[in-house]
Amino acid sequence: TRTVEQFDKVVDSVCPFCGVGCQTTVRVKDDLIVQVDGRDGPANENRLCVKGRFGFDYVRSPDRLTKPLIRRDDAPKCGDINLKGADPLTVFREATWEEALERASSGLTKIRDERGGQAIAGFGSAKGSNEEAYLFQKFIRQGFGTNNVDHCTRLCHASSVAALMEGVGSGAVSAPFNDALKADCIIVIGARPTTNHPVAATYFKQAAKQGRKLVVIDPRKQDLMRHASHSLVFKPGTDVALLNAMLNVIITERLYDEQYIQANVSGFEALKEKVKDFTPEAMEPVCAVPAATIRDVARLYAKSERSIIFWGMGISQHTHGTDNSRCLIAMALITGQIGRPGTGLHPLRGQNNVQGASDAGLIPMVYPDYRSVEDADIRAEFEDLYGRPLDAKRGLTVVEIMDAIHDGEISGMYVMGENPAMSDPDQIHARAALAKLDHLVVQDIFLTETAWHADVVLPASAHAEKLGTYTNTNRQVQLGRPAISLPGDARQDWEIIQDLARACGLDWHYGHVSEVYTEMASVMPSLKNISWDRVEREGSVTYPADGPDVPGNEIIFVNGFPTRDRRGKIVPADLLPPDEVPDEDYPLVLTTGRLLEHWHTGAMTRRAGVLDAIEPEGIASMNPREIERRGMRQGIMVKVETRRGTVEALLRADREVADGMIFMPFCFNESPANVLTNPQLDPFGKIPEFKYCAARIGLADTE
Ligand code: SF4
Repeated sequence: TRTVEQFDKVVDSVCPFCGVGCQTTVRVKDDLIVQVDGRDGPANENRLCVKGRFGFDYVRSPDRLTKPLIRRDDAPKCGDINLKGADPLTVFREATWEEALERASSGLTKIRDERGGQAIAGFGSAKGSNEEAYLFQKFIRQGFGTNNVDHCTRLCHASSVAALMEGVGSGAVSAPFNDALKADCIIVIGARPTTNHPVAATYFKQAAKQGRKLVVIDPRKQDLMRHASHSLVFKPGTDVALLNAMLNVIITERLYDEQYIQANVSGFEALKEKVKDFTPEAMEPVCAVPAATIRDVARLYAKSERSIIFWGMGISQHTHGTDNSRCLIAMALITGQIGRPGTGLHPLRGQNNVQGASDAGLIPMVYPDYRSVEDADIRAEFEDLYGRPLDAKRGLTVVEIMDAIHDGEISGMYVMGENPAMSDPDQIHARAALAKLDHLVVQDIFLTETAWHADVVLPASAHAEKLGTYTNTNRQVQLGRPAISLPGDARQDWEIIQDLARACGLDWHYGHVSEVYTEMASVMPSLKNISWDRVEREGSVTYPADGPDVPGNEIIFVNGFPTRDRRGKIVPADLLPPDEVPDEDYPLVLTTGRLLEHWHTGAMTRRAGVLDAIEPEGIASMNPREIERRGMRQGIMVKVETRRGTVEALLRADREVADGMIFMPFCFNESPANVLTNPQLDPFGKIPEFKYCAARIGLADTE
């Protein structure tokens, strides 16, 4: 315990990791963060998880980039550099900012001028602030006349957003996760909040302790099931079978809200027709959940006064991810379990600012606030503001961009704070694409696996070094404040984007990050009444807000939906198999995800001493029964193989993993799980099927 005098500075900020958006107090001594505590923010009420509390020392890692780097002319342009062993200065040379910006901009403009702006693409980041996301999408759209701009929402909740936009006219949550405490029935499906949204999980546990019914539905067992009234462990990939069976019960037992449907919902008759054969008895052998349990849960959800649904990547990361979400939306719409406290639909957003980055237009089909690039009137408004003709067609998405590089359509990229060399599916293909680019500019705080492929590397700012707004999963716009200084010649991200934009010929003159916010808010109706000053003053404001002094609306869809006819739209879903199912050659199912201690591709948490000490090496987990059946034992090195590649990892026994399954986290670059994953996309959300592919396992060559 330290006394206040022992700190030079105490700064109010927000956690840089997950979408819960915990508010923090950061204590600084000698320009070093020495302690982080939870603050009384609306999302966390003083709580923090292990990442927020102990995962801060990565910012002073000796690996931080402190100088701009330019690739040496004789360095190989390949994707299989031995990342652990290589000395960066054998591949890159240090440069001044002037030279680096000149090299970065001339490479991009040369491609634009010779091949057209469609040959350029940009990946922004859900780790950056709203202002950085807004500037990044503006730079790509204004500077290159293309909508080829995307970020990791494509790998996360893109299918949920596609279904929500279609069904209820907004991709954001309808109620905060803290409303679990007001609900009578809480469904958590395809999510593992104790690992991925730990502070949100504390509210779910608290609600269960207070006697609310908690239903946890997942193909993997999990900690939260210990608190649940109902735990449904179903066969992976059969979400639609299970959910349509629940819809069948609600409809056949007339548990729906007829009045609500008549006033607010379209598509009910088509849903009735679609789910009539999905009886619980018919679906029991498909999803491996007893028919009686399906009936119980459907009745509980529909009959409760207030029911709320939370979901995560287990729903969205499938080739039928949009269909999975459509079923959840249909459940809420036909029962009227939406638009009131303690009810609603809440896709638990992953990254700290994936909600905000999406809202700010860092996606290829829409401008800020999800306004279509294909709508001539909306486009004219942005052309007016940006002073240039803009692209009239949707841009390519993350995985499509990698394919377009292989096809020779894209040859230049600007990547800010994303790590597609680790996060994209079919990693060998993704890294080969990065290596094939004529020009790659990477802006980051570390020499990530992606940055190793770059022609120019621009050293950027960590979360604890910058000022900006972040929007959490609850739609709360919160202020992150700088606590420590930038290392070496590293610079603020928004300033780097501006300097690069200027070097590419754009006339930008932002003097402060608040000016970027003000321009962004002027084109985002959702931020009306939420000025920079207000966010600075209040620290957290929920959007939408009805007035500059009125608290934001935590619950939306109270009086209809923001669709053309103000009605919610049901889109019935069919049961489709995963893209790649087990067979004789690959008899197991591989699923991927995160660990409590590590964040996404591990760039930050693998460099956080406490966190990496707890989970220091790449693992593949299987049920102990399955391990024994194969004559293996925990702790040996195994090789996991799919049709895309082979990865070695340490075998871990885990009772939560079902028989016939392998689970691998994707944060370890020594055991890169995404070498194995299937890049096949959901047709609507364009999200790859990270949660399911056919695999086999054997002893590693080294074992
Ligand atoms: Fe940070 Fe999320 Fe943990 Fe809160 S729950 S401390 S936001 S990682």
